[in-house]
Amino acid sequence: LAAGLDLVHGLDSGAGLVSVAGLGSVAGEFLRELAKIVGPDHVLTAPDLRAGYEVDWTGRFRGAARAVVRPASTTQVADIVRLCAETGIGLVPQGGNTGLVAGAVPEGGAIVLSTRRLRDIGAVDPISAQVTVGAGVTIARVQELASEAGFAFGVDLASRDSATVGGTIATNAGGTHVLRHGSMGRQVAGLGAVLADGSVVNRTSGLPKDGAGYDLPALIVGSEGTLAVITEARLRLVPRLRRRAAAWIAVESVGAAVELAVELRQGLESLNALEYLDDAAVSLAAARHGPRPIERQSDATVLVEVAANRDPTPELVDALSAATGVLDAVIASDEVSIRRLWAFREGVAEAISAEGIPHKLDVAVPLDRLATFEDGIKRIVRERGSAAEQPWLVVFGHLAEGNLHVDVLGVDPDDAAIDDAILQLVVDLGGSVSAEHGIGRAKRRWLTRARDAADYGAMLAIKRALDPKGILNPGAMFPG
Ligand SMILES: Cc1cc2nc3c(=O)[nH]c(=O)nc-3n(C[C@H](O)[C@H](O)[C@H](O)COP(=O)(O)OP(=O)(O)OC[C@H]3O[C@@H](n4cnc5c(N)ncnc54)[C@H](O)[C@@H]3O)c2cc1C
Repeated sequence: LAAGLDLVHGLDSGAGLVSVAGLGSVAGEFLRELAKIVGPDHVLTAPDLRAGYEVDWTGRFRGAARAVVRPASTTQVADIVRLCAETGIGLVPQGGNTGLVAGAVPEGGAIVLSTRRLRDIGAVDPISAQVTVGAGVTIARVQELASEAGFAFGVDLASRDSATVGGTIATNAGGTHVLRHGSMGRQVAGLGAVLADGSVVNRTSGLPKDGAGYDLPALIVGSEGTLAVITEARLRLVPRLRRRAAAWIAVESVGAAVELAVELRQGLESLNALEYLDDAAVSLAAARHGPRPIERQSDATVLVEVAANRDPTPELVDALSAATGVLDAVIASDEVSIRRLWAFREGVAEAISAEGIPHKLDVAVPLDRLATFEDGIKRIVRERGSAAEQPWLVVFGHLAEGNLHVDVLGVDPDDAAIDDAILQLVVDLGGSVSAEHGIGRAKRRWLTRARDAADYGAMLAIKRALDPKGILNPGAMFPG
């Protein structure tokens, strides 16, 4: 097997891996048809051109694509999907390829349909406070557009420069401002999408109320490319708040962090973000991004951001002075210092990757069980330790939602036993095996365990009704 095409780490079967060399004449005809739709320059078949589309951000998951196709319009997407439906060839929608559950990693002889050229941008409508953009527009660009028009965008995440509107809708991405504005789905006022037979659904009127029939956009939110290819979205904008402040707070434990979060949520009207980092996360970020914001080492750190039209610093100081469990804190009230704190927090994912290929588990646990969960994962990792292997943990995430990113380093990327033990603990504690990254291929074995039979059956029935030939993202969420 050719290098780079042979491994699909951690997927539950090796079925469907494809050698791209030696495509038969039917496949050749298929590629020629694709080239007629998008032009030959936008059908990538050479291994070096495909390579970046075949591996996920972590490097843990790899697949093989028959080709990568890069349409520039909804019509081209519709033609590609129709061709795939006629030939029975699967297609994997891919935006910025920053997903962390192998949802955009091709398998089973599928093509990758890259949405990055779907970059149309409409004018911001100040009356409705909405804008229509192509699925390939990045979140950073939407934030800029909103800001230029005197608004803000409700979603922010560290992958903003690459993550696309289509990808964030398809995963219902969360990020750091969920506690104030909700996840990506809440920002969607409408969308345009291509269904599995190549037909186009357009619901981009942006009407605040529209109860005519099923809410198809809501169904497509979080569907991870398994029900439709999103080509454009009508997005809600939120008011731009002129001032913000942040605090980096050392606390004794995750339990203390939860207590602090509860107190701040009750008392701080301007609360914008509440993030959690364990000591390993702070130490790794410090090694890459300079000295710790607080010299004192503590088992747990909370990053709080507040935003308002008037300087919210006094409100933040008052709230922290009254709060229990604060060991030490620094407050940033100017933009440079605030950005420095965020760069530190957002640098954690890259700092982890610099240590090796992590097992990344994005989970949510009820806040009152977060401390029990952390004890449990430490025990699981300790028990896995042996003379040959010394796994270690880095934990950080979005505290307000009990959403932790559990990263295990020092374990073979193909060995899913530790993932299973941690996800079982999440289920036992009444949590979710996926808080904001989705199911993708990495967690598909877990969907049946995380949802009861009726729930899973309803999801499968929807998939089969809307994609009877199984061409949309085969192998994501459900076995291919
Ligand atoms: C450093 C870093 C920080 C991150 N922080 C966060 C965070 O705070 N919160 C969070 O939720 N996520 C986070 N992520 C994960 C990731 O950025 C999100 O999952 C994001 O939504 C993926 O967008 P994308 O455009 O890269 O999608 P991709 O990775 O390309 O695809 C993700 C899924 O969406 C599907 N898809 C993509 N485009 C379309 C489309 N147009 N139509 C239909 N399906 C489509 C794909 O098939 C795949 O299943 C982070 C990732 C990194 C690397």
